[in-house]
Amino acid sequence: MKTLENIEHMHTQESLNYMKQVYQTVKERNLYETEFHQAVKEVFDSLVPVLAKNPHYRKQAILERIAEPERTITFRVPWVTDLGEVKVNRGFRVQFNSAIGPYKGGLRFHPSVNASIVKFLGFEQIFKNSLTGQPIGAGKGGADFDPKGKSDGEVMRFCQSFMSELCKHIGPDTDVPAGDIGVGAREIGYMFGQYKKMQGGFVPGVLTGKGLDYGGSLARKEATGYGTVYFVEEMLKDNALSFQNSTVTVSGSGNVSVYAMEKTQQLGGKVVACSDSSGYIYDKRGIDLSTIKRLKEEDNKRIDEYVTEHPEALFFEGSSGIWSVPCDIALPCATQNELDEMGAKILVANGVAAVGEGANMPVTQEAYEIFLDNNILFAPGKAANAGGVSVSALEMAQNSARIAWTFKEVDEKLQVIMKRIYRDSMEAAKEYDSPGNLVIGANIAGFVKVADAMISQGVI
Ligand code: NAP
Repeated sequence: MKTLENIEHMHTQESLNYMKQVYQTVKERNLYETEFHQAVKEVFDSLVPVLAKNPHYRKQAILERIAEPERTITFRVPWVTDLGEVKVNRGFRVQFNSAIGPYKGGLRFHPSVNASIVKFLGFEQIFKNSLTGQPIGAGKGGADFDPKGKSDGEVMRFCQSFMSELCKHIGPDTDVPAGDIGVGAREIGYMFGQYKKMQGGFVPGVLTGKGLDYGGSLARKEATGYGTVYFVEEMLKDNALSFQNSTVTVSGSGNVSVYAMEKTQQLGGKVVACSDSSGYIYDKRGIDLSTIKRLKEEDNKRIDEYVTEHPEALFFEGSSGIWSVPCDIALPCATQNELDEMGAKILVANGVAAVGEGANMPVTQEAYEIFLDNNILFAPGKAANAGGVSVSALEMAQNSARIAWTFKEVDEKLQVIMKRIYRDSMEAAKEYDSPGNLVIGANIAGFVKVADAMISQGVI
């Protein structure tokens, strides 16, 4: 006899098979792109109950369509060093999904950048941008260029060459890039200048993360780090916990990390460790953030310099060791897959209560499962680090209206957005029988809006 339960089970099984078959195609079509596979699998796994309840998504081939970028641009970036040598890097822009707005997402300059990295980031951006509730589609880009150790002139010439090609593909209503690893205010400034020269007009809405004196938004610099802490704070509050008097480790010492540390300290938490790719520092009295800001934002120094100014602090080579520092809250804010199974086991053994991803996909699947098995509160990056792109969208709004909000105005809007993302993710998780699971909730809440918009717009 066909009971309701049997029918539901059948739909779930069919959806699982459909999901697996599409995932297999994604793997075959994007051979060796392991980070991209990882990001797709994590989202697809969450969507099985949604597909079971909504068979029209399958009929409309939504998984096949959502995992295929609308457009991928790869280009040569030639530039000249201070010594007159000609160098060539590879530039990328992946325009992943424009169902709910112009492509939006950062540019990363780092030697590890390749098609897999750009596609994983672009794919994640679809759901993140949807979660913000703002009208922004998804894109990501960058180059395998390493700004480290380059002079200002070299960085400028690289950025100009990069933008000479990229400018053909972007615009305030089509694609609006921003910064990411290796791309801060300096690089955005050089690229903005070159865009202006190539296009022959001042178009503030073409890039976000701009300097304050030419169309940037107050609180954009702080937005991702602050937003991550606002999100984690909501999660802690729901579980009768808080940052107050907690011990916190924050990996990285770049844009996201510095402002996650700042907000943590403002909320009464003690940050005892941070890192860069060379190693980590441990300061049991609490990290002196003004030193980190000066070393990293002004002097371009390595993290071990901190201990020369604070001899009671310790420096350890190797960045992954940071997870051996006992803490209540861990905020991985550096890079993808930086917190693996071993790190997760040590954090759990040391009594961590919550983990919040400030970076994109910093926690491996195996590490996540350890947190899940041990009931550790977990804030996924897609939701927790959406504050950066949210304020980028606020920057676009200010540029369109030719106005500038105060820091307080932007920060208040950011807090409202982060709280709403948290609630929406919790509600979606509950609706699909995974109460409290923010990974599943964020994936579903982000997906449904984009999938419905894609269906409304026909097969394009
Ligand atoms: P960033 O300013 O370039 O800083 C990156 C930091 O991570 C640097 O301190 C870097 O050290 C460190 N790092 C790199 N690899 C590391 C490793 N294996 N172990 C430890 N530290 C390492 O970049 P960011 O903008 O803060 O971005 C950090 C992460 O947040 C990325 O995953 C990015 O995609 C994500 N994110 C950024 C934004 C944003 O608004 N910026 C928004 C959303 C998500 P070195 O200097 O030694 O390389």
